[in-house]
Amino acid sequence: MRIGVFVCHCGSNIAGTVDCAQAAQSALALPDVVYATDLMYTCAEPGQAAIEKAIHEQQLTGVVVASCSPRMHEQTFRKTVERAGLNRYMFEMANIREHVSWIGKDKEANTNKASELIGMAVMKLRNNRPLYAQRFDITKRVLIIGGGVAGIQAALDCADGGIPVILVEREPTIGGKMAKLDKTFPTVDCSACILGPKMVDVAQHPNITLYASSEIESISGYVGNFDITIRKKTTYVDWSKCTGCGTCTEKCPSKAVPDRFNEEVGLTTAINIPFPQAIPKRASINPDYCRKLTTGKCGICSKVCPTKAINYEMKDELVTEKVGSIIAATGYDLMDWTAAYSEYGGGRYPDVITSLQYERLLNASGPTGGHIVRPSDGKEPKKIVFIQCVGSRDKSIGRPLCSGFCCMYTAKQAVLTKDHIPDSQSYVFYMDIRAAGKLYDEFTRRAIEEYGTEYIRGRVSKIYPDGNGQYVVCGADTLLGKKVEVTCDMVVLAVGIEASHGASQLAEKLRISYDQYGFYVEGHPKLRPVETNTAGVFLAGVCQGTKDIPSSVSQGSAAAAKVLSLFSRDKLENDPQIAHVNPARCVACGKCIRCCPFQAIKEEVFRGQLKAKVIDTVCQGCGVCTSTCPQGAIQLSHATDNEILAEVNLLCQY
Ligand code: FAD
Ligand code: SF4
Ligand code: SF4
Repeated sequence: MRIGVFVCHCGSNIAGTVDCAQAAQSALALPDVVYATDLMYTCAEPGQAAIEKAIHEQQLTGVVVASCSPRMHEQTFRKTVERAGLNRYMFEMANIREHVSWIGKDKEANTNKASELIGMAVMKLRNNRPLYAQRFDITKRVLIIGGGVAGIQAALDCADGGIPVILVEREPTIGGKMAKLDKTFPTVDCSACILGPKMVDVAQHPNITLYASSEIESISGYVGNFDITIRKKTTYVDWSKCTGCGTCTEKCPSKAVPDRFNEEVGLTTAINIPFPQAIPKRASINPDYCRKLTTGKCGICSKVCPTKAINYEMKDELVTEKVGSIIAATGYDLMDWTAAYSEYGGGRYPDVITSLQYERLLNASGPTGGHIVRPSDGKEPKKIVFIQCVGSRDKSIGRPLCSGFCCMYTAKQAVLTKDHIPDSQSYVFYMDIRAAGKLYDEFTRRAIEEYGTEYIRGRVSKIYPDGNGQYVVCGADTLLGKKVEVTCDMVVLAVGIEASHGASQLAEKLRISYDQYGFYVEGHPKLRPVETNTAGVFLAGVCQGTKDIPSSVSQGSAAAAKVLSLFSRDKLENDPQIAHVNPARCVACGKCIRCCPFQAIKEEVFRGQLKAKVIDTVCQGCGVCTSTCPQGAIQLSHATDNEILAEVNLLCQY
């Protein structure tokens, strides 16, 4: 073999604490290394050109680049060596940045460690074999999970691009949180006016199949060919017959049902349509409150329904779909603040409400027709305190994350409050104002300067009723260095966000990662913000981390662009770094079949005997089976026992 080694300075990132020239020089002492040099930026165009030139001039058959993490540039360098005629797997990368220069300051020790890592990469490369991808057919349909604004945007963009879309929403209507908002910052335009037409487009688009009140039961398969089972949850109403006329909701005698769409400010009926612009506009029965389903008596909705759509015997239904790609757009939930903030009443004070509840009070199609009233007595509040960061940036309850959009929507809610009640006064307790978006800072200034909102920098330590129907909010003004108390009629909490409930279970079905807060982890925080580490699965909206509407819409479009790009090919190639079973060693114990997280191993008769067999297109190369097989019958291409032992043996020599 003729191996070339290229040691990257990464500007001063590596060269600051590693002697790159010396590390390159030391590589020349390794077997098969015929060329070694150091370069300022190997990933930049001149660096890649230098590698290609050396491959040609030195007739290299393998290349080692010592630079940053393979997560960053392995694909870049694989393409570089491929352009110069080498097989892309005749390349190895030594991470001397994250694993060396960024974590140690001693230049001599760092240089020695870098040389050792380069040595290991060379020894592995000497055992590498060229690998070749297989081509397979692709199902050009996409599944989008979650019909908030991010999922809606992704669905419309994919559908407009000619791709059939399966949109699965677990609530009876699409729209997500945006459908609950009154107006949106910073333009203060009506949420329903901008979201409504998009929701209608979803309903009318010939390329979109919408499953509302549905959830993902199971997912199997791989990029290009996923098999999806969807659970259509029973609504007790045949939606193919329901016209959304609303006769049933008018006549339903069970009228004391907490209204989930209205965040439980207000009541609804046991059979209801979430809101007048719901898509689909269909009725559903809440079985916990339906008299017929709980007591066997009533059945009025069935009698009054003009289309005979009610079916009390209805059961969940499972349907299957085949898709080639998936976009997760499952959004977020507000955390349950009541347990964590007993000092704010823990939910006992009726007029201490969440920001989303307040949006419903502001909303003309909300439970009060857009009149801001106190839940306790229906009176118009005049003094309102907004508290930001309730469950955000609060290490004491294990939630150091910033929820991102609360600063802005609090300013918006203060502005709207003044519009609704001109003689009102709003106070905002805040930690910092984070208003970095376009026209955002200007908007918060308007809330203060034009609308007279009083901003108090500091946390609130306690809220208590004063006994005369009002509440006392006690806090500290950290700018003035003194305690403050505001007596008010109503308190609105900007409650922190968390991943939508069930997000982690869905992540397991999708085989994608999630962080400590449950938000889905992107392929790379900077370079692959829409992708995941599972091929063909993309992310849109707040399910990946906090985002306001413009950013959620942007990511929805970005995810759609990824799908369209994937589907622009007629065939896909698999990653050949997969497991292989040696049938001569396999004793068909089945341990690999049970441990494979991707169901990528099956049993097959080989020369008259049952043996394990890896399905090439499904295997993700995780390696679990190789370490589980008691017979050592499974090898992972590009991480074979020989390749790993060669690395370890080299290390033992130092
Ligand atoms: P969501 O709106 O949460 O939608 C996710 C959807 O996925 C939901 O319909 C959910 O039911 C569905 N879903 C979840 N899990 C599953 C599952 N397993 N299967 C199927 N479906 C599932 N932003 C602005 O830019 N301007 C504003 O004025 C503004 N005001 C706000 C006011 C308040 C009080 C709050 C809390 C937020 C506000 N925001 C505002 C932020 C805005 O709500 C988000 O940016 C936006 O809703 C994100 O959209 P999304 O589609 O990512 O998530
Ligand atoms: Fe649908 Fe029948 Fe109710 Fe009308 S009465 S909304 S058709 S279920
Ligand atoms: Fe399954 Fe083994 Fe492939 Fe991992 S490496 S996906 S365990 S077959």
